[in-house]
Amino acid sequence: MATKTAEQAQESAADKKSLTIGVLALQGDYEAHARAFRSSGARTVLVRKADELAGLDGLVIPGGESTTMLKFLEKDRFFDALTKFISAKPVFATCAGCILLAREVLHPSQRSLGALDATVERNAYGRQIDSTILTLPTELPGGPLEMVFIRSPRITRVGKGVEVLAQRDGFPTLVRQGTLLAATFHPEMSVDPRVQQLFLEMVRAHKAHEELSHTKS
Ligand code: GLN
Repeated sequence: MATKTAEQAQESAADKKSLTIGVLALQGDYEAHARAFRSSGARTVLVRKADELAGLDGLVIPGGESTTMLKFLEKDRFFDALTKFISAKPVFATCAGCILLAREVLHPSQRSLGALDATVERNAYGRQIDSTILTLPTELPGGPLEMVFIRSPRITRVGKGVEVLAQRDGFPTLVRQGTLLAATFHPEMSVDPRVQQLFLEMVRAHKAHEELSHTKS
């Protein structure tokens, strides 16, 4: 009979503990997100179809082009499946993802998932050439954070339940609302893992809460 080596036993214990993070892989920089989450210790799954949302502990909606992602989402009831997922599990949205997640999108206005109580203006800082990297203060422990802005949107309004964790010129760049985390920049393009770690903490807390309510019922 095959017995497990100590190493295999350790690996399977780690597997049990590790979180499964899906990365929406319709378009955009999903590979960089998957890499960043793997280096922070998560298991990652690329999600291209609605049924691939099953079994995930959390989901990343990456940056890219929100209009293109919308076109894919509007096929095969993916939009509805995603709306349902967002109401049940933690979601981390960056840049185009933040646009998709917002309640109101301007410049121009477009359909969105409407979960994040915020107004987001697309391409608010000009064209590709106006993209920039800034190191700005943040509420995250560990001091200022590098933020890569690429044709980035601007959050111009947030609701009462939205916590602002970082800003650029007085406009929020990193926000949290319950189980939702959204950034107008690209944390997956910096080596600093603090934003990924924050999301993993949110996912872990949500999972523990779910497990507790299952054992109670
Ligand atoms: N400008 C893009 C949009 O409107 C977002 C850019 C990005 O995700 N880097 O969807």
